[in-house]
Amino acid sequence: TPCPSCRAAAFCSLPPPPHTPCPSCRAAAFCSPACSAASHPRLLCAALSSGLAAAPEAHQEPLLFLLSAYSLQEPSLSAILSLSSAPQGPSPSQQQDAASLHAAVASVAPPHMLPAGFSPDLTAALLSKDRTNSFSILEPYRPDVPLELRKARCCAVYPRASLLNHDCLPNACHFDYADRPGPGNTDIVVRALHGITEGKEVCISYFAANWRYADRQCRLLEDYGFRCECDRCQIESKWKF
Ligand SMILES: [Zn+2]
Ligand SMILES: [Zn+2]
Ligand SMILES: [Zn+2]
Repeated sequence: TPCPSCRAAAFCSLPPPPHTPCPSCRAAAFCSPACSAASHPRLLCAALSSGLAAAPEAHQEPLLFLLSAYSLQEPSLSAILSLSSAPQGPSPSQQQDAASLHAAVASVAPPHMLPAGFSPDLTAALLSKDRTNSFSILEPYRPDVPLELRKARCCAVYPRASLLNHDCLPNACHFDYADRPGPGNTDIVVRALHGITEGKEVCISYFAANWRYADRQCRLLEDYGFRCECDRCQIESKWKF
Protein backbone atom coordinates (compact mmCIF):
# COMPACT_ATOMS: atom_id res chain seq x y z
CA THR A 1 0.00 0.00 0.00
CA PRO A 2 1.64 3.26 -1.03
CA CYS A 3 1.72 6.20 1.31
CA PRO A 4 -1.55 7.93 0.35
CA SER A 5 -0.07 11.32 1.06
CA CYS A 6 3.24 11.30 -0.77
CA ARG A 7 2.47 8.19 -2.95
CA ALA A 8 6.22 7.67 -2.96
CA ALA A 9 6.66 4.89 -0.43
CA ALA A 10 5.76 1.97 -2.67
CA PHE A 11 5.91 3.15 -6.26
CA CYS A 12 8.26 6.05 -6.70
CA SER A 13 10.98 5.65 -9.31
CA LEU A 14 13.19 7.94 -7.23
CA PRO A 15 15.16 6.38 -4.37
CA PRO A 16 12.46 5.47 -1.84
CA PRO A 17 12.37 7.20 1.53
CA PRO A 18 12.71 4.93 4.58
CA HIS A 19 9.33 3.24 5.10
CA THR A 20 7.48 3.49 8.38
CA PRO A 21 4.96 0.65 8.66
CA CYS A 22 1.75 1.49 10.51
CA PRO A 23 2.37 0.00 14.00
CA SER A 24 -1.26 -1.08 14.22
CA CYS A 25 -2.06 -2.93 10.97
CA ARG A 26 1.55 -3.36 9.70
CA ALA A 27 -0.06 -3.48 6.23
CA ALA A 28 0.36 0.14 5.12
CA ALA A 29 3.78 1.79 4.85
CA PHE A 30 4.51 5.50 4.99
CA CYS A 31 7.44 7.82 4.35
CA SER A 32 7.14 9.27 7.85
CA PRO A 33 5.05 9.02 11.02
CA ALA A 34 3.61 12.46 10.12
CA CYS A 35 2.30 11.13 6.78
CA SER A 36 0.87 8.08 8.51
CA ALA A 37 -0.95 10.24 11.07
CA ALA A 38 -2.26 12.59 8.38
CA SER A 39 -3.48 10.09 5.82
CA HIS A 40 -4.24 6.68 7.31
CA PRO A 41 -7.91 6.64 8.38
CA ARG A 42 -8.68 4.53 11.48
CA LEU A 43 -11.42 2.69 9.60
CA LEU A 44 -9.01 1.67 6.84
CA CYS A 45 -6.38 0.65 9.40
CA ALA A 46 -8.94 -1.49 11.26
CA ALA A 47 -10.08 -3.13 8.00
CA LEU A 48 -6.47 -3.88 7.04
CA SER A 49 -6.01 -5.46 10.48
CA SER A 50 -9.05 -7.68 10.04
CA GLY A 51 -8.36 -9.36 6.74
CA LEU A 52 -8.96 -6.81 3.97
CA ALA A 53 -5.99 -8.29 2.10
CA ALA A 54 -7.86 -11.62 1.81
CA ALA A 55 -10.56 -10.03 -0.40
CA PRO A 56 -10.37 -10.92 -4.13
CA GLU A 57 -7.85 -8.91 -6.16
CA ALA A 58 -10.60 -7.26 -8.24
CA HIS A 59 -12.26 -5.98 -5.05
CA GLN A 60 -9.15 -4.43 -3.50
CA GLU A 61 -9.33 -1.08 -5.27
CA PRO A 62 -13.09 -0.46 -4.83
CA LEU A 63 -12.83 -1.59 -1.18
CA LEU A 64 -10.00 0.90 -0.52
CA PHE A 65 -12.18 3.58 -2.10
CA LEU A 66 -15.28 2.66 -0.05
CA LEU A 67 -13.37 2.45 3.25
CA SER A 68 -11.71 5.80 2.53
CA ALA A 69 -15.06 7.35 1.59
CA TYR A 70 -16.77 5.95 4.71
CA SER A 71 -13.90 7.46 6.76
CA LEU A 72 -14.68 10.98 5.56
CA GLN A 73 -16.16 13.53 7.92
CA GLU A 74 -19.04 15.69 6.75
CA PRO A 75 -19.23 17.72 4.57
CA SER A 76 -16.73 15.71 2.48
CA LEU A 77 -18.96 12.62 2.16
CA SER A 78 -21.89 14.80 1.03
CA ALA A 79 -19.56 16.56 -1.42
CA ILE A 80 -18.87 13.22 -3.16
CA LEU A 81 -22.59 12.42 -3.22
CA SER A 82 -23.37 15.81 -4.77
CA LEU A 83 -21.26 14.98 -7.86
CA SER A 84 -23.07 13.72 -10.95
CA SER A 85 -23.41 10.06 -11.89
CA ALA A 86 -24.35 8.33 -15.14
CA PRO A 87 -28.07 9.05 -15.85
CA GLN A 88 -28.90 5.47 -16.86
CA GLY A 89 -28.01 4.13 -13.38
CA PRO A 90 -25.88 1.06 -12.63
CA SER A 91 -26.05 -2.02 -14.88
CA PRO A 92 -27.19 -5.35 -13.37
CA SER A 93 -23.57 -6.50 -12.99
CA GLN A 94 -22.59 -3.20 -11.34
CA GLN A 95 -25.53 -3.65 -8.92
CA GLN A 96 -24.34 -7.15 -8.11
CA ASP A 97 -20.78 -5.89 -7.52
CA ALA A 98 -22.09 -3.14 -5.24
CA ALA A 99 -23.99 -5.69 -3.14
CA SER A 100 -20.98 -7.95 -2.68
CA LEU A 101 -18.66 -4.99 -1.99
CA HIS A 102 -21.10 -3.74 0.64
CA ALA A 103 -21.05 -7.14 2.32
CA ALA A 104 -17.23 -7.11 2.19
CA VAL A 105 -17.07 -3.67 3.85
CA ALA A 106 -19.48 -4.85 6.56
CA SER A 107 -17.31 -7.91 7.22
CA VAL A 108 -13.98 -6.05 7.67
CA ALA A 109 -15.11 -2.73 9.20
CA PRO A 110 -15.87 -2.46 12.94
CA PRO A 111 -19.54 -1.32 13.04
CA HIS A 112 -18.87 1.50 15.54
CA MET A 113 -16.46 3.16 13.09
CA LEU A 114 -18.95 3.27 10.21
CA PRO A 115 -21.05 6.42 9.72
CA ALA A 116 -24.77 6.38 10.57
CA GLY A 117 -25.76 6.35 6.90
CA PHE A 118 -23.87 3.12 6.08
CA SER A 119 -26.22 1.11 3.85
CA PRO A 120 -26.28 -0.89 0.59
CA ASP A 121 -27.84 2.11 -1.18
CA LEU A 122 -25.13 4.49 0.03
CA THR A 123 -22.41 2.02 -1.02
CA ALA A 124 -23.97 1.74 -4.51
CA ALA A 125 -24.25 5.54 -4.75
CA LEU A 126 -20.59 6.03 -3.75
CA LEU A 127 -19.44 3.49 -6.34
CA SER A 128 -21.41 5.19 -9.11
CA LYS A 129 -19.93 8.59 -8.15
CA ASP A 130 -16.47 7.03 -8.27
CA ARG A 131 -17.09 5.58 -11.77
CA THR A 132 -18.05 8.93 -13.31
CA ASN A 133 -15.84 11.33 -11.36
CA SER A 134 -12.53 9.80 -10.42
CA PHE A 135 -9.21 10.66 -12.01
CA SER A 136 -6.60 7.96 -12.54
CA ILE A 137 -3.17 8.84 -11.24
CA LEU A 138 -0.84 6.87 -13.50
CA GLU A 139 2.40 5.08 -12.72
CA PRO A 140 5.51 7.18 -13.29
CA TYR A 141 6.46 7.60 -16.95
CA ARG A 142 9.13 5.14 -18.11
CA PRO A 143 10.61 5.38 -21.59
CA ASP A 144 10.59 1.56 -21.99
CA VAL A 145 6.83 1.21 -21.25
CA PRO A 146 4.43 2.15 -24.12
CA LEU A 147 2.07 4.97 -23.06
CA GLU A 148 -1.07 2.82 -23.47
CA LEU A 149 0.33 0.18 -21.08
CA ARG A 150 0.89 2.60 -18.21
CA LYS A 151 -1.27 1.39 -15.34
CA ALA A 152 -3.28 3.50 -12.92
CA ARG A 153 -1.76 3.24 -9.45
CA CYS A 154 -4.64 4.97 -7.74
CA CYS A 155 -7.88 6.79 -8.42
CA ALA A 156 -9.09 9.92 -6.70
CA VAL A 157 -12.21 12.07 -6.64
CA TYR A 158 -11.58 15.82 -6.50
CA PRO A 159 -14.37 18.09 -5.27
CA ARG A 160 -13.67 20.76 -7.90
CA ALA A 161 -11.68 19.09 -10.72
CA SER A 162 -14.34 16.32 -10.88
CA LEU A 163 -16.85 18.98 -11.96
CA LEU A 164 -15.03 19.57 -15.26
CA ASN A 165 -17.03 18.43 -18.28
CA HIS A 166 -15.69 16.57 -21.31
CA ASP A 167 -14.94 17.92 -24.77
CA CYS A 168 -13.23 15.89 -27.53
CA LEU A 169 -11.40 19.09 -28.49
CA PRO A 170 -10.56 20.23 -24.96
CA ASN A 171 -9.37 23.74 -24.16
CA ALA A 172 -7.70 22.56 -20.93
CA CYS A 173 -5.70 19.59 -19.72
CA HIS A 174 -5.06 18.13 -16.27
CA PHE A 175 -1.68 17.23 -14.82
CA ASP A 176 -0.60 15.38 -11.70
CA TYR A 177 2.74 15.46 -9.94
CA ALA A 178 2.50 12.44 -7.66
CA ASP A 179 6.24 11.75 -7.92
CA ARG A 180 7.20 15.14 -6.57
CA PRO A 181 7.86 15.39 -2.83
CA GLY A 182 4.78 16.54 -0.88
CA PRO A 183 2.80 18.30 0.37
CA GLY A 184 0.43 19.14 -2.48
CA ASN A 185 1.68 16.36 -4.78
CA THR A 186 -1.73 14.66 -4.89
CA ASP A 187 -3.30 17.83 -6.33
CA ILE A 188 -4.67 17.93 -9.87
CA VAL A 189 -3.47 20.96 -11.81
CA VAL A 190 -5.65 22.14 -14.72
CA ARG A 191 -3.99 24.29 -17.37
CA ALA A 192 -5.51 26.05 -20.40
CA LEU A 193 -4.18 24.74 -23.71
CA HIS A 194 -4.76 28.10 -25.42
CA GLY A 195 -6.51 31.41 -24.77
CA ILE A 196 -10.14 30.85 -23.73
CA THR A 197 -12.70 33.55 -24.48
CA GLU A 198 -14.79 34.86 -21.62
CA GLY A 199 -17.97 32.84 -21.07
CA LYS A 200 -16.66 29.69 -22.80
CA GLU A 201 -16.78 26.54 -20.66
CA VAL A 202 -13.42 25.12 -19.57
CA CYS A 203 -13.42 21.42 -20.60
CA ILE A 204 -10.94 18.56 -20.45
CA SER A 205 -10.89 15.27 -22.35
CA TYR A 206 -11.72 12.22 -20.22
CA PHE A 207 -9.23 10.10 -22.21
CA ALA A 208 -6.41 10.54 -24.73
CA ALA A 209 -7.52 13.12 -27.30
CA ASN A 210 -6.36 10.98 -30.26
CA TRP A 211 -9.05 8.31 -29.82
CA ARG A 212 -11.25 7.68 -32.87
CA TYR A 213 -14.86 8.87 -33.00
CA ALA A 214 -16.46 5.43 -32.45
CA ASP A 215 -14.18 4.62 -29.50
CA ARG A 216 -14.88 7.97 -27.86
CA GLN A 217 -18.65 7.63 -28.20
CA CYS A 218 -18.56 4.07 -26.89
CA ARG A 219 -16.55 5.01 -23.78
CA LEU A 220 -18.64 8.10 -23.03
CA LEU A 221 -21.90 6.19 -23.35
CA GLU A 222 -20.78 3.22 -21.25
CA ASP A 223 -18.97 5.04 -18.45
CA TYR A 224 -20.59 8.47 -18.41
CA GLY A 225 -24.01 7.85 -19.93
CA PHE A 226 -24.07 10.44 -22.72
CA ARG A 227 -23.50 10.83 -26.45
CA CYS A 228 -20.98 13.55 -27.20
CA GLU A 229 -22.16 16.22 -29.63
CA CYS A 230 -19.16 18.51 -29.38
CA ASP A 231 -17.94 20.43 -32.47
CA ARG A 232 -15.40 17.73 -33.29
CA CYS A 233 -17.92 14.88 -32.96
CA GLN A 234 -20.43 16.69 -35.19
CA ILE A 235 -17.82 16.79 -37.96
CA GLU A 236 -16.34 13.32 -37.42
CA SER A 237 -19.80 11.67 -37.25
CA LYS A 238 -20.11 12.46 -40.98
CA TRP A 239 -16.78 10.90 -41.92
CA LYS A 240 -17.22 7.85 -44.15
CA PHE A 241 -14.44 5.65 -42.65
ZN1 LIG B 1 4.33 10.13 2.81
ZN1 LIG C 1 -2.66 0.86 9.95
ZN1 LIG D 1 -17.06 14.88 -28.77
